[in-house]
Amino acid sequence: MVVVLKQNAPLEKRNALISEIETMGVKVQVTEGTETSILGLVGDTSHLNEFRISSNEIVANILRVQEPFKKANKMFKPDDTIIEVAGRKIGEGYFSVITGPCSVESEEQIESIAKEVKDNGATFLRGGAYKPRTSPYAFQGLGLEGLEYLKHAKEKTGLPIVSEIMSVGMVEKFVEDVDIIQVGARNMQNFVLLKELGKTSKPILLKRGLAATIEEWLMSAEYILNEGNGNVIMCERGIRTFETYTRNTLDLSSILVVKKLSHLPVIVDPSHATGKAWMVEAMSKAAVVAGADGVLIEVHNNPALALCDGQQSITPEQFSKLMGKIRTLVELEGKKLEG
Ligand code: PEP
Ligand code: MN
Repeated sequence: MVVVLKQNAPLEKRNALISEIETMGVKVQVTEGTETSILGLVGDTSHLNEFRISSNEIVANILRVQEPFKKANKMFKPDDTIIEVAGRKIGEGYFSVITGPCSVESEEQIESIAKEVKDNGATFLRGGAYKPRTSPYAFQGLGLEGLEYLKHAKEKTGLPIVSEIMSVGMVEKFVEDVDIIQVGARNMQNFVLLKELGKTSKPILLKRGLAATIEEWLMSAEYILNEGNGNVIMCERGIRTFETYTRNTLDLSSILVVKKLSHLPVIVDPSHATGKAWMVEAMSKAAVVAGADGVLIEVHNNPALALCDGQQSITPEQFSKLMGKIRTLVELEGKKLEG
């Protein structure tokens, strides 16, 4: 339930109303909007005396939130969430390019790619140190060594870093080492992990699950938000459908749905969505004009020899050309390319 307060409602009256509602057994989240303040009621609101609340002199309106996600809901927080990471803004009005190889393979590899993408205006450097592979025999990532190489690349280029976490035991290390923690598609419903990440204040890039509905994806964001971490970035990376030509099916319409239903930023990953390097440029351009707040693109200096996801990785030269197009389209959308 959402209680919209009248403009300029006096603070002491507002606090009294909050206490009154809390004695009815639900939690209250206050959101200061540009126009008015909103009280978001979380918990079992079915037994609440709605009439008693609406009769309060400072209450303008009461709305029932139908969706199961509350803190991720735009009704709870009408203003878009803008997340600031290392001086870069992620959210409505801004555009981020998160890029790098699928996995960190060596110090030279990550540093040379980092330098090339930085020179072409990337916003963040991304590389996997731990890889969730379908086969246990496939390259699993360099682990801690990979994280060290990423940090060196950050020192050398100034690019903030993004990397994927695999389990709860890694939370402390990732909070210390990276600027944005990625939760991969396979962990989207690892609720224990989501809760632990919710107790931190690190920005979390939450990928959509392999076969998750938009509501399930937003419910996963809710797990993080509910623990107090409001810095959630949604990442559409394609979903499983009956189509087999592409690795997944890129659901561009989810950008519009998530932005309509929630206040969270949405990034699109055309690399994992298509699985094909030659489709990355067109789908990146489509993501910009469909309203995404950024893209996540895999770049490798030698895709044919990549230890992971080479077939969907573009080269630094292709990335440079793509950045030119992205720049034009971002400007056309009236947004600012962060970098
Ligand atoms: C990745 O980002 O490299 C990755 C494994 O992606 P996803 O979780 O979307 O499959
Ligand atoms: Mn990958």
